[in-house]
Amino acid sequence: MAEVIDGEAVAAEVRSGIADCVDTLASAGARPGLATVLMSDDSASETYVSMKQRDCEEVGIEGIHVDVDADAPATALFDTIDDLNARADVHGVLVQLPVPEHVDRRAVLRRIDPEKDVDGFHPENVGRLVAGDARYKPCTPHGIQKLLAAYDIDTEGADAVVIGRSDIVGKPMANLLIQKAPGGNATTTVCHSRTADLEAKLADADIVVAAAGVPEFVDGSMLKPGAAVIDVGINRVDADTEKGYELVGDVDYDSASEVAGAITPVPGGVGPMTRAMLLYNTVKSAGRRHGVDVTLP
Ligand code: NAD
Repeated sequence: MAEVIDGEAVAAEVRSGIADCVDTLASAGARPGLATVLMSDDSASETYVSMKQRDCEEVGIEGIHVDVDADAPATALFDTIDDLNARADVHGVLVQLPVPEHVDRRAVLRRIDPEKDVDGFHPENVGRLVAGDARYKPCTPHGIQKLLAAYDIDTEGADAVVIGRSDIVGKPMANLLIQKAPGGNATTTVCHSRTADLEAKLADADIVVAAAGVPEFVDGSMLKPGAAVIDVGINRVDADTEKGYELVGDVDYDSASEVAGAITPVPGGVGPMTRAMLLYNTVKSAGRRHGVDVTLP
């Protein structure tokens, strides 16, 4: 049976290190602040934002939240971003995605001050990541790098398959894995909805990062024995529960854990790490802004 990669435990360690960074900043008279902006009535987005605010509180980061009416013109969101960009007490600005259809998502990401872009989605930060000079690594792939390191899963020379090519997960994950740097140096294949023969790619993969948003579509029969399997997917499927649904990953956990060497559960794997790395980027930003050398976890 595969070793279970405990994202809750690793995230708790990261958060403890971040609380130390907050103390260091406080001794220098600075308090890190993270602003979240929600322009949506979607319940999942509301939940994500409130979890991020709760996380801030737990480690001593000042949480600021702004709601923008989902029907408001795009300029209302841009004005909010401009205000937060200008505020000295705000070190991170995060606009919860997706934004409504009448708002240009790319324009939103470009509007955020790259120094406060703690999601790492501004084109300047994407460029820096690709160039191997990341300012803020995007939270989900960065969290995955930390998980792999925590479990001594060596990426160097490994064959890695990333399933999914989104700007949020797939592409930055692949970019991190190919960097000539710790947590990189993997021979990386990016698979997506038009990949001709996913099974053939997976058969050789030492590390699989599944981020397709398709419930349980990777099963044990597709994996190389001993592979490290990182399940990013968070899919709501109908179930006989109080809420009427349950959350499952992109990997069929039961069959995969019989073949894999290590595997992340859903929930409790990648999700907590994504949240922790947002706090990481926020204290990093505050350290940069105030010239304080925080020792990041
Ligand atoms: P997305 O929809 O933007 O991208 C999905 C990608 O998967 C696309 O590039 C598509 O080409 C590829 N794909 C779709 N079907 C495929 C198939 N059958 N075979 C191969 N590739 C296929 O999604 P995203 O934002 O990257 O998120 C992916 C999943 O991860 C979702 O379930 C999302 O909820 C979850 N997610 C989790 C976290 C976390 O912290 N755990 C963070 C972000 C996203």
